[in-house]
Amino acid sequence: MKQIRHLKTMQRWALDSKRTSGKVALVPTMGCLHEGHVSLIKRARKSAGTAGKVIVSIYVNPTQFGANEDFSSYPRDLTRDLNICDREGVDVVFMPSDTSMYPDTTEKEYSTYVIESSLSPKMEGKSRPAHFKGVTTVVCKLFMLTLPDMAVFGAKDYQQAAIIRRMTSNLNIPVKVIIAPTIREKDGLAMSSRNAYLNKEERSQSPILIQTLTEAKGIVRSSPDQSIQTTKIQSILKARIRTKKLAKLDYIAFFDPVTLQPLDKVCKGSHMALAVYFGKTRLIDNIRL
Ligand code: AMP
Repeated sequence: MKQIRHLKTMQRWALDSKRTSGKVALVPTMGCLHEGHVSLIKRARKSAGTAGKVIVSIYVNPTQFGANEDFSSYPRDLTRDLNICDREGVDVVFMPSDTSMYPDTTEKEYSTYVIESSLSPKMEGKSRPAHFKGVTTVVCKLFMLTLPDMAVFGAKDYQQAAIIRRMTSNLNIPVKVIIAPTIREKDGLAMSSRNAYLNKEERSQSPILIQTLTEAKGIVRSSPDQSIQTTKIQSILKARIRTKKLAKLDYIAFFDPVTLQPLDKVCKGSHMALAVYFGKTRLIDNIRL
């Protein structure tokens, strides 16, 4: 397994690999890898085939964190991550530095960003205003540096995946975007590097996210015509979340799965997402109803 830190080395490897090997599949991550990431790596290998190459990028991207968010405390464990990648048969781990990705920001030499303007301002974008500008910019840069044929993202970050799909299509980027299912703990909590922040009591209440999503699905499927007014289902679900003392709801949203347009009436096939705080830890999850 190759470890690459320099941007030019990565791009040279990608260009050479395009000439000599099969498909290249990229899995972008911020590290602190868990079984969710591993499932994306396996999916990438399946798509690239045995003759192809799998690249995992590990980069905690500063531009997608807000000023009061957890950039400096975000969990990092590179030795463990490298062992996992090696075990999973990854060909290249790409680990760029901040100074190479965003050189001379103080001198304003870094001044180019990618902005998706329709899907980004909703939901996560409302709570984290600059987040998706950081995500689309870094993903675009990673695409240019690794030149993949396909890239795998998790359905756990549903809005992010939809935005990347839109960006790739709008900018005619020749990368196939693959969205892989959410991997969960035994009690249904979606795996996340941020779960490590939860204390014992918070962790024990955290399955409320999947319980609320599952309850919503049950309500929709058992309603007449399999549909219900958004305001009605919202108030049932909010009451459910209030039963967990440590859970503080940020938002519940019901939306069209492609356009992410909010819905007045929720039906079978509509999508639901929610974000809940436990102390300072913000957890997100989503489901197709
Ligand atoms: P992160 O390292 O949190 O930026 O995530 C990197 C990629 O892994 C993103 O595409 C996420 O959507 C995906 N991911 C994170 N958690 C999970 C999970 N529990 N199941 C599947 N994919 C996930």
